[in-house]
Amino acid sequence: MHIPFDNSYATLPDGFYSRLDPTSVAAPKLLAFNKDLASLLRIEVGDLTEVADVFGGNDVPQNAAPLAQLYAGHQFGSFNPQLGDGRAILLGEVIGTDGLRRDIQLKGSGPTPYSRMGDGRAWLGPVLREYVVSEAMHALGIPTTRALAAVSTGEQIWREQGALPGAVLTRVARSHLRVGTFQVFAHRGEVENLKTLTNYAIQRHYPEAKGPMDLLRAVCAAQADLVTRWMSVGFIHGVMNTDNCAISGETIDYGPCAFMDAFHQNRVFSSIDQQGRYAFGNQPGIAVWNMAQFATSLMQTFEDRNAAVEEATEIIHAMPQMLEDGWLKRFAAKIGIAEPAKADTPLIEELLGLMQTDGADFTNTFRALGGANARDQFTNREAFDAWAAKWQQRTSSDTARETLMRSVNPAVIPRNHRIEQMIEAAVAGDMAPFERLMTALKTPFSETDADLARPPTETEIVPATFCG
Ligand code: AMP
Ligand code: MG
Ligand code: MG
Repeated sequence: MHIPFDNSYATLPDGFYSRLDPTSVAAPKLLAFNKDLASLLRIEVGDLTEVADVFGGNDVPQNAAPLAQLYAGHQFGSFNPQLGDGRAILLGEVIGTDGLRRDIQLKGSGPTPYSRMGDGRAWLGPVLREYVVSEAMHALGIPTTRALAAVSTGEQIWREQGALPGAVLTRVARSHLRVGTFQVFAHRGEVENLKTLTNYAIQRHYPEAKGPMDLLRAVCAAQADLVTRWMSVGFIHGVMNTDNCAISGETIDYGPCAFMDAFHQNRVFSSIDQQGRYAFGNQPGIAVWNMAQFATSLMQTFEDRNAAVEEATEIIHAMPQMLEDGWLKRFAAKIGIAEPAKADTPLIEELLGLMQTDGADFTNTFRALGGANARDQFTNREAFDAWAAKWQQRTSSDTARETLMRSVNPAVIPRNHRIEQMIEAAVAGDMAPFERLMTALKTPFSETDADLARPPTETEIVPATFCG
């Protein structure tokens, strides 16, 4: 196997990372490999045993510069001055056939200087969950890190549930720069490092930006766009800590994330989110909060701090409107309105209100709006009919409307219960449910697998998700 590394992060000052190799594993076995992504990255694949050795962490490929990145972060609102890659190692970067630079990172590849109490490992469940969900997000057109490989390690690791099979995920990202990467230098008052990082982020992601204020503006726009896209497919990230908030605007760090079945504005799945801080409907507000932390971390790069604070405050204060506009645009498209007006907001909110009262399935209700059976999604059908009459007044059925709706309302999403079933099968050595999910989720806007589109039955419902 040949990976055409072109590393830039490893040329940054020593204080940005710790160099170390992945820790070897007992018996690496390739469970999944994303051939399309490999060719986008210009990786030449030969023998699959070699692939398992590299992406399991046993072979360090030629020209890799393995390192663990340093960062800090606000976790559930409290600042942790030092986090860093506790179980991840950046092998290096490649430039794809599309001209874009991307990181190749192993996750679950052994302890690092930032592991604190952790074992540096991941178990098979979260590895396959991230593999499936990140690739599904990509197919849905939502900016995200991607999955290149999943390798089982042949080792057992210990979690609350007991002994579990270990695995390593290889993930690909436009970069792993986070809000927390800025926060660590700001917190330490390492202004030179902060400036170096700012310039690096600008060059890598927003080359048109003329300085840190433009960078802030660009990241705010990217985050607002990202979160409205999440909302539009019923996605709940689950851990929107500032260390899980990517400067690139990609979705990153799939932990206890989930797609909603029955709609509720306050839906939470993560078992560690007791207060509902990262509930579905809180995500726009949290994005603003995270960007306020980002703005704060940039302030030391300015000569005139007072002026900078004033300008940054304006940028942050403009974000709620951006989020509202983005939300309206995406949800209007879901009911077939291409060019929404402010007056369409109550129409959309009324539908969501009916869905919430009835516990209607988020994905299937919107998908059904394009057909004749949408009212079947509701128990209170009269209420839906009354809403539909208003909807028909606003926009009448025609091919353009149907086409728009079918292009933004997926038929299939990675439902929680399917992911849990897939993991259970994989632990028992059966990868067929994984393959089936991956196949259907490649084309989420077409009806290819009706059974995967079905919401969970009472007994199938997965009420809570866990971190890896
Ligand atoms: P996360 O909640 O996954 O974003 O992780 C938060 C921090 O905990 C990061 O610094 C991770 O690298 C670290 N971490 C999570 N799980 C482990 C683990 N099993 N071993 C070591 N560090 C971990
Ligand atoms: Mg080694
Ligand atoms: Mg993280």
